[in-house]
Amino acid sequence: MPVTREEAAKITRRTGKGIEAFTWENEQGVLTLLNDATTRACTFLLTDSAEAHAPGLCSIYEFRPKGCQMYPVVLNEDDRAVLDEACPHPDGFDAPSEDDAMALLNLEERMLRGG
Ligand code: SF4
Repeated sequence: MPVTREEAAKITRRTGKGIEAFTWENEQGVLTLLNDATTRACTFLLTDSAEAHAPGLCSIYEFRPKGCQMYPVVLNEDDRAVLDEACPHPDGFDAPSEDDAMALLNLEERMLRGG
C-alpha cells in the first residue's frame, strides 16, 4: 500500500518505528508499506499465516493510511475508481463514485510530489 510522507511520519510518531523499518521507496520516490518476510502480508497486519486470505487485524487501524481506508476502491489504468479485483469480499461495498476517483487521484498526486 502506498503512503504519503505525512502518513509515514504519523505512523512513526505513533509506533516509534523508523520509516525505513516499514516502507520502501520506489524509483518515483513513492513510499510503500513493506510486507513481512514470513507472512508476506503488510508488516502491520497481525497474522501468523502466509495464506493469501488468512484472517488478521491491522495493528495501526486507528491511524491507517488513506489508501487503506478507501480499499477496496482503487484506481484502474484509466484513472477510474473501481473495486480491486483482488479483494476477497467486494460484495459488501458500494460502487465507487466520481468523488472516490478524485480522492484517490489527489492522494496519488500528493505521493508523487513527496507530500
Ligand atoms: S489496513 Fe493496516 S494491515 Fe492493511 S495494508 Fe493498511 S496498514 Fe497494512
